[in-house]
Amino acid sequence: MASHIVGYPRMGPKRELKFALESFWDGKSSAEDLKKVAADLRSSIWKQMKGAGIKYIPSNTFSYYDQVLDTTAMIGAVPPRYGWNGGEIEFGTYFSMARGNATVPAMEMTKWFDTNYHFIVPELGPDVKFSYASHKAVEEYKEAKALGVDTVPVLVGPVSYLLLSKPAKGVEKSFSLLSLLDKILPIYKEVIAELKAAGASWIQFDEPTLVKDLESHQLQAFTSAYSALESSLAGLNVIIETYFADVPAAAFKTLTGLKCVTGFGFDLVRGTKTLDLIKGEFPSGKYLFAGVVDGRNIWANDLASSLSVLQSLEGIVGKDKLVVSTSCSLLHTAVDLVNEPKLDKELKSWLAFAAQKVVEVNALAKALAGHKEELIGWEGLVVDARAVHATLKKRDSEPVGQNDANAALLAISFLFQAFFSANAAAQASRKSSPRVTNEAVQKAAAALKGSDHRRATNVSARLDVQQKKLNLPVLPTTTIGSFPQTMELRKVRREYKAKKVSEEEYIKAIKEEINKVVKLQEELDIDVLVHGEPERNDMVEYFGEQLSGFAFSANGWVQSYGSRCVKPPIIYGDVSRPKPMTVFWSSMAQSMTARPMKGMLTGPVTILNWSFVRNDQPRFETCYQIALAIKEEVEDLEKAGINVIQIDEAALREGLPLRKSEEAFYLNWAVHSFRITNCGVQDTCQIHTHMCYSNFNDIIHSIIDMDADVITIENSRSDEKLLSVFREGVKYGAGIGPGVYDIHSPRIPSTDEIADRINKMLQVLETNILWVNPDCGLKTRKYTEVNPALKNMVAAAKLIRTQL
Ligand code: GLN
Ligand code: ZN
Repeated sequence: MASHIVGYPRMGPKRELKFALESFWDGKSSAEDLKKVAADLRSSIWKQMKGAGIKYIPSNTFSYYDQVLDTTAMIGAVPPRYGWNGGEIEFGTYFSMARGNATVPAMEMTKWFDTNYHFIVPELGPDVKFSYASHKAVEEYKEAKALGVDTVPVLVGPVSYLLLSKPAKGVEKSFSLLSLLDKILPIYKEVIAELKAAGASWIQFDEPTLVKDLESHQLQAFTSAYSALESSLAGLNVIIETYFADVPAAAFKTLTGLKCVTGFGFDLVRGTKTLDLIKGEFPSGKYLFAGVVDGRNIWANDLASSLSVLQSLEGIVGKDKLVVSTSCSLLHTAVDLVNEPKLDKELKSWLAFAAQKVVEVNALAKALAGHKEELIGWEGLVVDARAVHATLKKRDSEPVGQNDANAALLAISFLFQAFFSANAAAQASRKSSPRVTNEAVQKAAAALKGSDHRRATNVSARLDVQQKKLNLPVLPTTTIGSFPQTMELRKVRREYKAKKVSEEEYIKAIKEEINKVVKLQEELDIDVLVHGEPERNDMVEYFGEQLSGFAFSANGWVQSYGSRCVKPPIIYGDVSRPKPMTVFWSSMAQSMTARPMKGMLTGPVTILNWSFVRNDQPRFETCYQIALAIKEEVEDLEKAGINVIQIDEAALREGLPLRKSEEAFYLNWAVHSFRITNCGVQDTCQIHTHMCYSNFNDIIHSIIDMDADVITIENSRSDEKLLSVFREGVKYGAGIGPGVYDIHSPRIPSTDEIADRINKMLQVLETNILWVNPDCGLKTRKYTEVNPALKNMVAAAKLIRTQL
């Protein structure tokens, strides 16, 4: 029984690649330095997998930035603006495409399916001249081979590549990207030929778009592409890997009908229906790469339950054709639990990061094989077998003199059993731990299901009552929450956390900062103020740290894009709020001004989507629990005299499932969760929400259904798109503030420019519902940018007011 890993994180256990990249970009180290760090990381990953006993070890899953960009480089599809003149693509061109340079902006970046990883979107058109311009895949294969590791080179499959591309600027939107297949396949053939010549016997094509709702002509492209590659692939074993969701029945049929394929990889964690398809019909003689170890989460695998799935599959595909694998690339999980000294032992026993998942995959494969001799590969991994053997000897007073190999074997098999029983014990402790289960929370959350929660009065009546109390001018101005986070602020937070600064000093420092931000907003004459969020490091972490049921890793980083990583909180137990989280700061801020001060919270859906979530209950249950905790906070804020409360749902849109058929269910519980947080306040309490990303035209009805009094949304990069919804007649009765300038850029917008924007909005939105605000929080900007930008924003609002 063999084992396979779809892909592995590139950043390194301590984000070594991040630091090497950033130092190179800053001109502080050379290209050679960067290449050395990268080569060391690759080598240690390959050796680790080999040592763990993995049979099919991937190569070319490393990347200096992104694997889709690597593919763009491979086929030489460099947009002309980067001035590339052919030849092998070097760092200069590669990183310009990824990050832009002094004169040319970067290529667009977008989310990789429903993960938090972002890829660089290829820009293609009929005139692109493709050429084999990056030999990275072959070089990495050879590099591993020289280290004694025969790997499976991984390529982004040609059809998924095209389906993930967009027409370049100037190319008709209706241009068929798939029509480029004939032009890119010759390059793939060159790569395949070189890999073969270098000695590769397997090759893996990642075709994750197969899990989406594809049309028949798109499915047909898979058949055409892989039959066109058939002769080149002769003599190679081919894996087509899918992940992130169920493969729909039609796609399953197309996929399993491909002749040149030796084995198919499926995500059996998110794809339970795929399991049924496999059980229904699987082509005989083909390999099944069964992705039973979750690549997107940090939980230890339930080995016993995986084994039973695998055993049932064995009966279908045959013992020698079943390969144990990960559900997707391990890129989407944290790297190594070894670097988590602060997590307690019990919690740690429930977890597995990438390095531990590799061990799990191998253990499952070996357990399935059931042969002791096959356990030998295990030697390198968990412990030094000899050390265990020594203890063993003492315990069992085993006869001395036994030959070393046997002794090691015995030790390994002992370890192996110990590994399985430790896993079973951990699973059991997780199920029964009082740290996980809180009966009261379970009950309260269960009671929410199926019922509805919304404020009793409709939004327009509420807005009237609120206006009487708040007395705001038309086109009220506000900001999204955070103000610039200075070095001093970060320092004081860090030192307070490290107990180097007393609570008193800390409060004093934060209070001063809030005061500064309040005074600034008053000077700018902003209507609804914020406290600036100086006490927060991150909008999810801040709440997670104060809620029960959350844990935080020290090094559990996951690549988000390029060198950027995020460290999602781990939700391991029922969520509750031991005490108020923001009331202290918000009421302090309110006491500094006569103007309304917004309470500032992160919504349940965003907290959920930006965390590693429990896999022992459905996502919506966890979401409802968080919603109840936030509800308590909302009500406490109201009691403390805060009349405007913003509940950010920055990540609501990005939690949307990959398949259309699942969208309604998600939106239903997500929007319900949001309403739960604020259904208990008086009509006079004005509930705001904020969302990032502009692409919500397709979910506008769900946004309306959130029933917030005011929504502020990121918009400035796509005015037209957002406004078109309203132009088409969607009625929006609540307050709405489409961002009037882009906070992601240091550029300062002029008063005229903002006024223009407001006027444009007024053509489609009624005067009495429009708010004026930036796109998002200001935390990444400098005061030298924020001051003039906000000044112009307020001036623009005032100018338009005089013209109404
Ligand atoms: N209130 C948050 C802030 O202003 C919102 C951030 C976000 O939407 N990503 O920073
Ligand atoms: Zn935002």
